[in-house]
Amino acid sequence: MIPISKPLLGPEEHQAVIEVLASGQLAQGPRVAEFERRFAALVGTKAAIAVSSGTAALWMALLAHGIGPGDEVITTPFSFIASANSILFTGAKPVFVDIEETSFNINPMLIEAAITPRTKAILLVHLYGNPADMEAIMAIAREYGLLVIEDCAQAIGAEINGKKVGSFGTGCFSLYATKNICTGEGGMITTNNDEIAERCRKLRQHGMSVRYYHDSLGYNFRMTDLQAAIGIVQLSKLEPFTQKREANAYYLTEHLHNVITPTVRPGTRHVFHQYTIRVKGDRDEAVKMLTEAGIGTGVFYPLPIHKQKVYVELGYTDHLPVAEQAAREVISLPVHPALSQADLDKIVREVNQL
Ligand SMILES: *Cc1c(COP(=O)(O)O)cnc(C)c1O
Repeated sequence: MIPISKPLLGPEEHQAVIEVLASGQLAQGPRVAEFERRFAALVGTKAAIAVSSGTAALWMALLAHGIGPGDEVITTPFSFIASANSILFTGAKPVFVDIEETSFNINPMLIEAAITPRTKAILLVHLYGNPADMEAIMAIAREYGLLVIEDCAQAIGAEINGKKVGSFGTGCFSLYATKNICTGEGGMITTNNDEIAERCRKLRQHGMSVRYYHDSLGYNFRMTDLQAAIGIVQLSKLEPFTQKREANAYYLTEHLHNVITPTVRPGTRHVFHQYTIRVKGDRDEAVKMLTEAGIGTGVFYPLPIHKQKVYVELGYTDHLPVAEQAAREVISLPVHPALSQADLDKIVREVNQL
C-alpha cells in the first residue's frame, strides 16, 4: 500500500532525541528556544512561539488578540474542524463564508457580506498547502479594521510573491505527525507584534511573568525539548521535502487526464501538503477502487464544518454550496517526499483507469 502520508525521520532526528534524553532537560528548554528562532527566521517574522499543537496555536492566537464572547470571526467551512473550534473555545462565534471552487480556500468576494459590527477577525486557512488570496483578504481587513489569523497548519513554506504565509497576519502552524514537517504533536505561532508574542508566551505558561507570580489566566500549552529537537532537524530538511512534493505534484498533473487537478496561482508557492483532485461521479467508489489497487487516499474533508453534528446542534443552518460540493468530490492522492517513480507511475495508471 502506498500510504497517503509518511513521516520522514532519519538518523539525525534519532540522534537529536538521544542528546535531549542524555541532557536531562525534557520539558521546555534551550531546544525550544532554538527551534523558535529558526522557525521565525524561516517564516520571516520577529517572533515564533512554540506550543503543544496547531489547535493550541489557533486558540492562543485568538486569545492573545483579545477575541472572546460577543465577537464574530469569519472563517472557512472547508477545513479540519480545529480551525473553527478554536473560535468556539474563546466564546466567539465562527461565521462561515463559502470557498473558491478552484483553490478550495475562503472566497474573498463573499467576505464583505458577512461582516457585522461584531466582526473582529478573519481566520483563513491555506488549505492543502495552497496560499489563500492574501492580497484581497488583507485589503478587506485593512478597510474594516479586522485582525487576520492565518491557519498555516498545512502550509509551512508556502509563499505569495516571495512572502511566506504566517507573516501576513498572525500565523498558526501544526507539527502533527502527518504535516509537511513534524514533531509528533506540536504547533507554532508567528508574529511581528511584540505584544502579541508576549501574551502568547504568558498564555502558554499559566500567565506567569516571574517564577510563580501569575499576572493573568493562562494554560499549559508548552512544547517539550524532545519535540523541538526533532523540529530543528525537520526544519533543516523542509526545502528538499517541499521540492520533492512540488516535483511529485507536477508529475501527477502532467500525467493525469480524467480528473480535475490542482492549480497554482501565478506568483504563489503551493507546498502540496495534499494533492487533491475532484472526481465527478461516485467519489466513494473511486476511493474503494484505489484502495484495492494499493493506493492510499484521503478525503479532506467529507463533511464541511457547518454540517458537523456539533455545529448543527449549535444551530448552524448555513447552505454553502461550493464547500458542500467540494466535500462530495475531493480525493487526495499521495504526494509526499517518500514516493518513488514507480509509486507515481502506479498512481497515474490507476487514477487514469477510474
Ligand atoms: C492539522 C490541522 C490543524 C490542527 O493541528 P493539530 O496540531 O492537529 O492540533 C488545524 N488546522 C488545519 C487546517 C490542520 O490541517
